[in-house]
Amino acid sequence: MQTTMQDRPLTLSHFLYRAERYTPSKLIVSGTATGVEERSYGEWALRTRQLASVLDFLGVPRDARVATFAWNSARHLELYFAAPCSGRVLHTLNIRLFPEQLTYIVNHAEDDVIFVDRSLLGLLGPLLPTFTTVRHIVVMEDGGDAPDPDGVNLLDYEELIASAHPAEFQELQETRAASMCYTSGTTGNPKGVVYSHRSTYLHTLAVLQADSIGVRESDTVMPVVPMFHANAWGLAHAGVATGANLVLPGPRMTPSALADLIVEQRVTVPAGVPTIWMGVLPELAGRDTSALRAIPCGGSAVPKALSEAYREQLGLPILQAWGMTETSPIASVAVTRSWLQDLPEDQLADLRASQGPAVLGVELRIVDQESGEELAWDGVTRGELQAAGPWIASGYYNDDRSAESFTHDGWLRTGDVAVITTDGYVRIVDRTKDVVKSGGEWISSVELENEIMAHPAVAEAAVIGLPHKKWGERPFAAVVVRPDASVTKEEILEFLEGRVASWWLPDDIVFIDEVPKTSVGKFSKKDLRDRFADHVLPTE
Ligand code: ADP
Repeated sequence: MQTTMQDRPLTLSHFLYRAERYTPSKLIVSGTATGVEERSYGEWALRTRQLASVLDFLGVPRDARVATFAWNSARHLELYFAAPCSGRVLHTLNIRLFPEQLTYIVNHAEDDVIFVDRSLLGLLGPLLPTFTTVRHIVVMEDGGDAPDPDGVNLLDYEELIASAHPAEFQELQETRAASMCYTSGTTGNPKGVVYSHRSTYLHTLAVLQADSIGVRESDTVMPVVPMFHANAWGLAHAGVATGANLVLPGPRMTPSALADLIVEQRVTVPAGVPTIWMGVLPELAGRDTSALRAIPCGGSAVPKALSEAYREQLGLPILQAWGMTETSPIASVAVTRSWLQDLPEDQLADLRASQGPAVLGVELRIVDQESGEELAWDGVTRGELQAAGPWIASGYYNDDRSAESFTHDGWLRTGDVAVITTDGYVRIVDRTKDVVKSGGEWISSVELENEIMAHPAVAEAAVIGLPHKKWGERPFAAVVVRPDASVTKEEILEFLEGRVASWWLPDDIVFIDEVPKTSVGKFSKKDLRDRFADHVLPTE
């Protein structure tokens, strides 16, 4: 039977239309090198339309990749919509990648034009001769003072906008590519994920769901998560779609600058990775944080101790989300279900330290890696977490590594090991490559880290497996002590007794100044393994 409903495409121009028509006076506040700049959604929408004409003027073909090398800002948000709404594909470049990876990505995606913040020109400039397809470099003045690289013709963003007419957007197919993002490539070259208008539209609605982050018009949302890291978790799109005020921190990324923005802009929903929130908490002490409603956090496991420290200091625990570049990224959010609300506080804290139930629209399952059988949701059986849904990737862009990451029935193999409880809460045990395999048993590096980080003197702890003659691998912990605190290896081991099984206790603990981080602020186990490759465990 034929449906009688209209077949209207789910495209991003609808969000822009909403901002333009319904919430033109709401604000986008951008941090700059020297202060903050405000722009209304009305002004933003007009400039976004002008920017689409600039792309025509520059001869950027339909479907061509429009790359950005930029902080979070209103200009970056103009690019977020001008490129896809005019039929081009936005490609956000991670400003913290190694130079060789950036060259690989720009050439692999065949970027046509790159929009770069002045303050980041020093990083990009030396790489320009290695890019094979880029025809234009457009500079966005952000208060930075990096000099022009020699011998390159740079275009000025504001000059181009000033002379451009606002474009009308043509209707596009919803399945058309809207943007692309590469994974951060902790193993091998980064892999490209291409989002469609439809997948981005539906993912935005997931961010708006009351049982996820629940972004609404009355919010002031601050994505600290970079706009180049998995779509800023959909929060930039959610801002435009709802008309929530957006605070985009730009280069003002120090903990104290972020705390100032939260307090001064009365932010309700700031979002970032755990390392960001570890730094910001002390900066918020004694200040007016009454506007805060939710603090979404993901990208790596949120230590229970961190979430509890927020609850104790601000009265608001952290809202953990799980996802990947391949899942747009929001796939699960650790909201507390109504039938669990009366649990004792400590058990509620455990729920919040899990990755939560899948959001409406996403299906998750755990699977035995050897047999491929789906496993029980009993809270103990561990398996590989797999995901399916309309905003989950089905392959990588032009990459023969796709086959190994997807199952025969089209589910994404996440590379995470997890259990799922009878209530549907996912608990990530570890990344497959990070679990410590001790005598055929698994030790979760994530859980061990969390328990160590519960010690009041510990700021950060990262656990890796080191080779062991008898057991194959044994856990080894690198620990960062809080400023003004002190703790010994023996004290940590004593603290862990009773908190973890005795055979989980690390065979060695060393103290370091800082845990190495990846380009998106996660603990870099790879760097840690390299650094301690020759470390001999005392139990050997
Ligand atoms: P990359 O794969 O390059 O690190 P992503 O940001 O796409 O970049 O990383 C996705 C991975 O991050 C997930 O597979 C998972 O291992 C980890 N991750 C994300 N959110 C969480 C979370 N809340 N808890 C534990 N791990 C998480």
